[in-house]
Amino acid sequence: MTVNDSIAAIVSAQQHFFHKDITKEIDFRLQQLGKLRQAVIARENDIMEALRKDLNKSEQEAFSTEIGIVYKELSFIIKNLKRWAKPKRVKTALTHVGSKGMVYPEPYGTALIIAPWNYPWQLAISPLIGALAAGNTAIVKPSELTPNVSRLITAMIEETFDPEYVASVEGGPEVSTSLLEQPLDYIFFTGSTHVGKIVMEAAAKQLTPVTLELGGKSPCIVHEDAPLALAASRIAFGKYTNAGQTCVAPDYILVHSQVKEKFISHLKDAITSFYGKEPLANPDYGRIVSEKHFDRLSGFLNNGTLRHGGNTLRDRLLIEPTVLDDITWDMPVMEEEIFGPLCPILTYDHLHEAVQAINARPKPLALYLFTENEDVQDYVLSSVSFGGGCVNDTLMHLATPFLPFGGVGESGMGSYHGEYSFHTFSHMKSVLKQTNRFDFKFRYPSKNGLGILK
Ligand code: NAD
Repeated sequence: MTVNDSIAAIVSAQQHFFHKDITKEIDFRLQQLGKLRQAVIARENDIMEALRKDLNKSEQEAFSTEIGIVYKELSFIIKNLKRWAKPKRVKTALTHVGSKGMVYPEPYGTALIIAPWNYPWQLAISPLIGALAAGNTAIVKPSELTPNVSRLITAMIEETFDPEYVASVEGGPEVSTSLLEQPLDYIFFTGSTHVGKIVMEAAAKQLTPVTLELGGKSPCIVHEDAPLALAASRIAFGKYTNAGQTCVAPDYILVHSQVKEKFISHLKDAITSFYGKEPLANPDYGRIVSEKHFDRLSGFLNNGTLRHGGNTLRDRLLIEPTVLDDITWDMPVMEEEIFGPLCPILTYDHLHEAVQAINARPKPLALYLFTENEDVQDYVLSSVSFGGGCVNDTLMHLATPFLPFGGVGESGMGSYHGEYSFHTFSHMKSVLKQTNRFDFKFRYPSKNGLGILK
């Protein structure tokens, strides 16, 4: 059997299973989500070990950014699923007197989830929770760049579910391409903007609905009134977690020129207090995923003026938390999403210059703004379009199940987490239930022309 044949067989088995209507039972879905939770609990140490091997994630980071988020999502969805899944009655228009409007959430069918390598556990399992909660069958395609986590996801799925309900298919672009040729009912993709376009093109051939969770350069504005020490700590946390390989990491800093020096000094202090004087010797400091990415990032180290870090160890794929000052928009580090532990600093004198510069580029996945001035907050939030973000913090918007998480424009389309995941993986079927007690004749054509209105 070729890879294509075995992929086609999985999709066909899942579609057959879906049509048995078992996944439409809410109790079945809750039972399966409970099984998934038990499997994660049983595999917690294995997940930490795999994340350590693939990305040198510390236990603390693995728990807070990968495993803990999955537990939170599972509990929140299990708690609320019955309420979300109920058919909802809506208001009736005056023209529809006597009838009842209903919205029935229904699963699409078989969903494909393609995951990236940077949070290889969470970004495969969180969408899976949404897909199953909504009553779909699912195929997960984890990233080939994190082979230990990828193998573990497959093993856990195989021991927890029948493949006709949930399956994991490992491999790189060829396997993804073959999966995308299948008659799927939903595609949920997380990865780069470049591959997002390929996925959407493939989906368009069969008009399969898609969610695209993509990347981009997320700005971080530090205004002149910001509490600089606190801002620096929160920015260092967002920038250097997972060695900067976070889709919503602050990509670059736009700091008011009056406070730049003080801010850089606090940023250096925060880096040293988090990772020590020699981060490359810190056993818990994350590594770069591959040599290709390491070399790409190393190429940016001579941009601007080096203010902190800059040392690297190629054999261990380590790059120090680095601060690059005197950066201008035309430098290579500003051309693409950095996705590594390098923090370029740009300045502005008037806020509108910063806003104009951001708006001249593709809509970012995240935006962070540090200021206590509410007029400044209102101005930036109403002038810039971005996926989501924080005022006076970084990353934390993605860790709450109450906020939708997703991009806009080149940073993606659609959103998920909590109830938004349920909606993403459900088709909202609208039905008008008409009364037979009376009938308005004026809507019918009449051989006399205007009928009853005449
Ligand atoms: P990627 O686009 O290279 O790969 C993502 C997935 O797509 C992998 O599973 C890969 O095997 C598959 N793939 C690669 N080439 C393909 C092709 N030609 N056809 C079909 N599938 C293909 O992304 P990556 O390097 O794994 O992740 C980094 C990117 O993902 C960054 O841009 C980052 O910002 C983005 N990202 C976004 C989010 C989000 O939630 N918005 C989260 C994490 C990462």
